[in-house]
Amino acid sequence: MLVEHTLFGEINKVDIAIKRLQEFEPQEGYLLAFSGGKDSQVVYHLAEMAGVKFRAEVAPTPDPPELIRFRRKYYPDVIERKCNVFTKRQVKGTMEGRPKTIFNLISSKKQPPTRMQRYCCEELKENVGNVGDTVLVGVRWSESNNRKKLSMVSFWKGKVMVRPIIDWTDEDVWEFLKKYKKPYCELYDQGFTRIGCIGCPLSSNQEKELEMYPKYKENYIRAFNRMIKNLDNNTTWQTGEDVMEWWIGKCKEKPLENQCSMFEE
Ligand code: SF4
Repeated sequence: MLVEHTLFGEINKVDIAIKRLQEFEPQEGYLLAFSGGKDSQVVYHLAEMAGVKFRAEVAPTPDPPELIRFRRKYYPDVIERKCNVFTKRQVKGTMEGRPKTIFNLISSKKQPPTRMQRYCCEELKENVGNVGDTVLVGVRWSESNNRKKLSMVSFWKGKVMVRPIIDWTDEDVWEFLKKYKKPYCELYDQGFTRIGCIGCPLSSNQEKELEMYPKYKENYIRAFNRMIKNLDNNTTWQTGEDVMEWWIGKCKEKPLENQCSMFEE
C-alpha cells in the first residue's frame, strides 16, 4: 500500500520517493533510464511531481512493438539512444560507425547472448549515461533476490545510481498508476507481468515470445547466419535455424568445441 498507518505514524511511499528524488538531484539534472514499463513510468511521474530536472532515455533493446508504440505515443519527449556505435577497434569493415543492436552484436561477438554471456545488457542497457551522471532507475527489491542486495543509492562505473522506488511492491506500482490515471502498455492486460527484450535468454518465456513475434525470430535467425559466416572455428551449426534450436534449448548437442551450454549455470 502506498499509504500505511503504523504505530509510528503514517508512511507515505509517494512522499518518501519524492523526498529522495529532491535530496539527490544533481545540478545538471538526472538521466532517467526509461523503458516504458510500469516501473520506469512511475519514476518518470514521480520526478515530475518532485519538480526535479531530468531527461529520459530509452536503450536500443529488442522491445515488443506494443511497448515501442506506447512510449512513442505517451512519452514523446523520451530520447531513443543510438549513440553507442561500433568503432574500428571493435569491428572491421561495414559495421564501423553503425549503432549497436542486439542483431549486429551477435555477429560481432560471434555467439548468441546467453545467461552467462549477457553482452547485450552490457552494451545496450548498462552503458546508460556517462561517468559523473546521476542515473535514475525503477529497480525494486521485490523483483529478484539479486535486486534485494541493492541499496537506494550506490556508485556504479563512475555514475551515481538512484533507485527512488526500491522498496515498492508490484501492488504499490499498480496503485500509483491507477491513482494518478496513467495509461500503461497493453501487454500487461494480456497477462505479462514484466515486459522486456523479445527472446531474452534470461526469460523463462523465451520460446513463447519468439513465437509471438515471428519477425523478431526471423531477425535473430538472420543474425545467427551472419554470425556463422564470421566464425573462425569449426562449428556443428550449419544454419541460423540450427543456432535458434540450440538457443531456445531444444537441441542439446554442443555447437562449438569446448563451449558450454547456455543452460549450464
Ligand atoms: S536480451 Fe536479455 S540479456 Fe540481452 S539486453 Fe535484453 S535483458 Fe539484457
